[in-house]
Order: sequence, then structure tokens, then C-alpha cells
Amino acid sequence: MIYLDHNATTPCAPELVDAMMPFFSGGFGNPSSPHRAGREAAKALEKARESVARLIGGTPEEIIFTGGGTESNNHAIVRGIESGRGNQIVTSEIEHSAVLSTCKNLHPRGIRTLYLPCGGDGIVRADNLADLAGENTGLISVMLANNETGAIQPVKEIADFARARNIPTHCDAVQAAGKMRIDVRELGIDMMSLSAHKFNGPKGVGALFIRRGVKIPALLFGGSQERRLRAGTENVPGIVGMGAACDLAEKNLDEYRSHCADLRRRLLDHLSTLERIRINTPMDASVPNTLNIGFEGVASEALVTRLDMRGICVSSGSACAGLTKTSHVLKAMGVPDNFLYSSIRISLGLSNTADDVERTAALIVQTVREIRALK
Ligand code: PLP
Repeated sequence: MIYLDHNATTPCAPELVDAMMPFFSGGFGNPSSPHRAGREAAKALEKARESVARLIGGTPEEIIFTGGGTESNNHAIVRGIESGRGNQIVTSEIEHSAVLSTCKNLHPRGIRTLYLPCGGDGIVRADNLADLAGENTGLISVMLANNETGAIQPVKEIADFARARNIPTHCDAVQAAGKMRIDVRELGIDMMSLSAHKFNGPKGVGALFIRRGVKIPALLFGGSQERRLRAGTENVPGIVGMGAACDLAEKNLDEYRSHCADLRRRLLDHLSTLERIRINTPMDASVPNTLNIGFEGVASEALVTRLDMRGICVSSGSACAGLTKTSHVLKAMGVPDNFLYSSIRISLGLSNTADDVERTAALIVQTVREIRALK
């Protein structure tokens, strides 16, 4: 099997599994317990918090652990808009469903959502902000890197605009962490969501950065964990794994970026031998591991399924959207119909090799030709 779907999820790095293991058995203490077992678990938690903070340029006091990217997004948006001054959320058309659905679910409570449009390059048009964000805007939420195309979004520009008008900001950085340098101070955002399993950490654990001075209430109520902002006994092994994943991502960032960029270039060079293709990823403004590419006359599901039968794991879009749903991201970009239903996402990781991508490219070329020949 060749796995090229790292934007859906990544394997846990072995060294990180080693770091997690002791906390399942020997170091099983509850971090809220005052005795030695508890203190040791609490110490591990704080170490992980430092690692997460370091990866994004925040401080440990600004990090709370959550059950993943979806929970972090829900927390920031639901509680963020409740704490703000207005009843309007400005987001973009190309957000992940964990943002879009959260906003939609607030509509019955009288909260409106306005969407920043996106250009043909997959990048949100921030120059439209002044038209959309007004007196009633209580929150702006825009992602840092898109999960389907890898396109990097103008978050700093958006945060600058918002700060000048005192509008709180949130950024879903789930697909950016570990793939590009992130500095929350430089970006100037108030809240940021992260998810461990997208950068070789375990599933079901994430973090929410809440800038010092930003006041939002808890999403879940119960105990006083995570400075009363996220009740529930912490997932200590998962959090230790997330901390280790952050350390590893920081250490490997340069190598990861040049390795993925090289593999993506090889893939594209090889795939460009095919006619009637469309590159949906802005190559100069994207995280280097993602290539979204369309093959006219070839249904994405047919290609993904045939490649799967040949041992290649790629995707037709967001894993959460399933196999058959049309991509709202490509639609927002104005991708024409002949490519809208015939694009796939290839997302690379550090463990992929040049041989993996050469074999994959050859099989894609062969499969595309076979499917086209059927018509
Ligand atoms: N945001 C983005 C951009 C994502 O790609 C994903 C996962 O696919 C999520 C949020 C949800 O993260 P999680 O799977 O940790 O809930």
C-alpha cells in the first residue's frame, strides 16, 4: 500500500508512541489528583503544553487541550460569538465542515453567517472584508491552510483588519500545523485550532490557543480542568503524544517542507504528461504536501476506487465529506464542471519516498488512460 492521504490523517511516529506508552499503565495518574501519581501526570501535561505553545509561538497559559480540531473549532466559534458584541460571523466559503456546520448550527439562535469569497486560485479574497464585516460582526474565522487544495490563506491581513475594529478572530490551523511555520503573534489572531493526528500525533486530541486577555467561557462544563475552560479528565497519553508530535514537527519542519516539495514536483512533472488536466492547488502559495489535480473525463470516485484496488490511497476531497459529495471548495473556486467532478487530492508525508510518487504517478497515468478509453 502507498499512503498519499496525509491530509485525512497521518500515522503516529514510533518515537511518539514510545513517549505515550508509559501513560497508559505505569503513569496512569489523574492529573487533577493531588498525590504523586497525579502530580506526575500533571507534569507530563504541562510539558506537552509547552511543546504545543512553542510550535505556534504562544505561551503555555494560552493553550487548552481538547478532543481534536472539531471541538476546538466549536469552542472558539460557539463561545466566541456569544462573548462578542455582534450576531454575525464572517468566515470563508472554503472552510472545513467543522467550521461551516458549527456556524450553520447557530442560525436558529439568530446568528448570521457571511462568507468571504474565494478566487480561482483557492485563496480567500480579504479585500471583500470591509463590505462584509460591520458593526454587528462578533467574530471572524478563517483557516490558515485549506484541507483540499493546501492553499494558504491571508490570515494576517484578516487579523490586522479585525484588530483595528476590535473584532475577535479565530483561525483553523489544523492543516497548517507541522507544514509551515506558524507564529500566532505575527499573525495577530485571538484563537487558533490544532489537531494532533494531522501531524503524526494521535487521533482524538487537539488544542485551542486562546490569546491572553481574550475571555471566552467553557464549551463543556464539569470539573475545573484546563483552567475551567474544558471540563473532563484529560487524555494524558494522547496529550503527551501531541506534545511529542509538536517537538518532532518543529525539529523536522525544514526537512519536511523540502522533502514534500520535491515529491510534489516529481508527481506533477510526471502527471503533466497527461492531457486535459487542471491543477487546483496554487503551487506557490500552498503547504508543500498537497496537490489537488483534475483529469477531464475521469470521475474522481472512479479514479480513487481504481487506485485503491491498485494499492494507492488518495482522496477525492475531504475525508469527512465522504466519497460522493461535490467539493464546496472547488465549487467556490469556480472550477468548471468538467473538472469539478474529476479532481483528486494527493497529500504527502515525510515517510513517502521518491519511489512511492513515481509508482503512484505511473499508475495514475495508466488508470486515467484506461478510464478515458472506456468512453
Ligand atoms: N479543520 C480542518 C481544516 C480539517 O482538515 C479537519 C480534519 O479533517 C478538522 C478541522 C477536524 O479535525 P479533527 O479530525 O481533529 O476533528
